[in-house]
Parts: sequence; C-alpha cells; structure tokens
Amino acid sequence: MEKRVFNFSAGPSMLPVEVLEQAQRELVCYPSSGMSVMEMSHRSKMFESILAKAKADLKELMHIPDNYKILFLQGGGSTQFAMVPLNLMNKNNKADYVITGQWAKKAAEEAKKYGKVNVVASSAETTFDRIPQLDSSKFDPDADYFYITLNNTVYGTRWTELPDTGNVTLVGDMSSSILSEEIDVTKFGLLYAGAQKNLGPAGVTVVIIREDLLGNAMDFTPTMLRYDIHAENDSLYNTPPTYGIYFMGLVFDWVKRQGGVAAIQKINEHKASLLYDFLDASSLFKGTVVPKDRSLMNAPFILPTDELNAKFIKEADALGFVNLKGHRTVGGMRASIYNAMPVEGVEKLVAFMKKFELENK
Ligand code: PMP
Repeated sequence: MEKRVFNFSAGPSMLPVEVLEQAQRELVCYPSSGMSVMEMSHRSKMFESILAKAKADLKELMHIPDNYKILFLQGGGSTQFAMVPLNLMNKNNKADYVITGQWAKKAAEEAKKYGKVNVVASSAETTFDRIPQLDSSKFDPDADYFYITLNNTVYGTRWTELPDTGNVTLVGDMSSSILSEEIDVTKFGLLYAGAQKNLGPAGVTVVIIREDLLGNAMDFTPTMLRYDIHAENDSLYNTPPTYGIYFMGLVFDWVKRQGGVAAIQKINEHKASLLYDFLDASSLFKGTVVPKDRSLMNAPFILPTDELNAKFIKEADALGFVNLKGHRTVGGMRASIYNAMPVEGVEKLVAFMKKFELENK
C-alpha cells in the first residue's frame, strides 16, 4: 500500500484506517449478503438492520433521549441552512442568529428568505477570532429558535458555554465537532452535522430533532425538505445515501471501541493542547484565536510573513503533513485535527514546527 499522509484537511478529512480497511474487506461482499452495501436495496432487511444499528449506536454515543428523532439525510450542512427555517420558523416567523463565521452567516442569509433574522451578536469585526459576548437583552423572546454554529471550522473557535435562551429552542450546527466532545443534547431542539469530518464520507447529513418540533413546516416546503416526512419514514422516504450510512455505522463502532465520546474528548483535548501549548510558547508561530474560545478540531495559526507561511506549507507538504493552508480570510495555516487524526500526527507536526522555528529565526 502507498504510504498514507497526515491529512490536516478541514473536510472531507482523515478517516480511521481500521475503518477504511474494514470497508475494503466488506466492499465486494458485505457479510452474509453476497453483495456490496452499494448494491443493496434500501428496502431490504439487510440494509434496514444497517440503518437501525447506526441509529442505535449514535443514540447511545450521544445519549440522545427517546423524544428525539435521528435522521440521515442528503444535501450537506448547507441544505440545513434552509431546512431549519422552513421547518421551525413557524410561529412568529423570526429567529435569532449568532454570527461566528461564514457558516453561521450563510445560514442566516438563507433564513432571511423565509422570515426575519435578528443578529444577536457577531464577531465579524475581529475576523471571527472569538465567540462574541452575548447581551441577553438583544435576544428576542418571541423568536422561533436561536441558532449557533457550535464549532467554527474556518476560524477555529468553539462554544464552550451554551447561551441560556429560556423557552426559545436552541438549534446547533455541529458539522465540525460532532462526536468530538460530550454535549448535552437536551439543551437543543435540533442539532445537525454533515458527515465529512468526524463521521464518514461526504453525502450524509445527520439531523437530531426533538419530536415536538415536527409537523409545522411552512406550507410551500418541498417534501424532501420536511423533517416530519423523513421522520415518519425513518429516513427511507426516498433512497437514502446507503453507503454513507453504512460507513458512518463503522465509524460509530470505532468511536465505541475508543471508549466513547468522553474518551475521544480526552484524546482530542490532548492533541489540541500539544498544538496550542507550542503556539503559546513559540516566538515565531502565533495562534489566531482568543485562547478561551479555541476549537479542539481546527487550529489556525500564522507566521510573521506570507513568505514564511508559504515556505512552511511547502516544506510540511513534502514531509507528508498535507492540507495545512489556512482559509483565505485568515491566511497562514489551519491544522484540522478531527477524531481520526492520530496523536502521532500532531506530535510529529509539532516537532516539525519546532525544527522550522529554529531554522527560520
Ligand atoms: N457548517 C459547518 C460548520 C461547516 O464546516 C460546513 C462545511 N465545511 C458546512 C456547514 C457546510 O456543509 P456542506 O459542505 O456539507 O454543505
């Protein structure tokens, strides 16, 4: 086999090797079926059991209560930007949004097509280097929901404390942090995540929705964008992304073998602190995020000049540390260290950063 690199991509991103190998073993013949999962009818008993197990495992891993539905949909996180307002902006036709980066911004822009968006706070002024301070007097008590992006993939920030929204339903985009740290699902009416970071290949979107929020979509909502339709049909209203669901199921098993989300969180905290401790001690590299809001998953950092940034990325790439280029709005570098990035990958990256610092002082 060709040598694998340490892939620091923001997504799609690294997947656990043992999961890839299991999928490889089962690619042509899924056990006791004589066919690939890709070739199975989504209405077959075999696929139904794959789907049921994936759902049960996610429920167990995230401690999802019985009054929530788990949906496996298509359309990525971006389709949720529309589905959330179409399905939930249904009483007063307005919602609160906190703008912590470009994904929250896009979600708010989409929501504006369907109702009134109240921007409660934004950290745009400081290039989203922090979670903005909230002033609860700006919260609209009549909002149909309150929307946050739990982990901001581009800017490397994360919410460590959830806003107290009272009776207003909290909605969270957890595309880049699902299964990376423990979270209290009961604080949310709806959570969603695209699969392509911590869960599996792109193409599946997980939605976790409290049952009482179902059934009030706007009249003109396309059938495929209605949560109630997908919930009533157990994610089998139409042909779901069968292979992605199967693969996600393998990742859920892997997370369980690591000891579950709490154990993974410990490893993630360790990986993140290896990087952040180095950045804090370095006289050449600099983290771009306010320390208290630093993400466990995406760590952006910069060097003093564009030339040095480019040199670092080039040398890192040659050594097998790939996809470290930062987002164009931040510049510099971003190391995405999702669940499947081994500790060894971060240790080796930090050792290389130390060497680079000595050579370029
Ligand atoms: N939300 C977040 C936090 C993201 O990081 C992304 C994409 N990386 C999206 C939403 C959009 O997801 P998709 O590309 O699946 O539409």
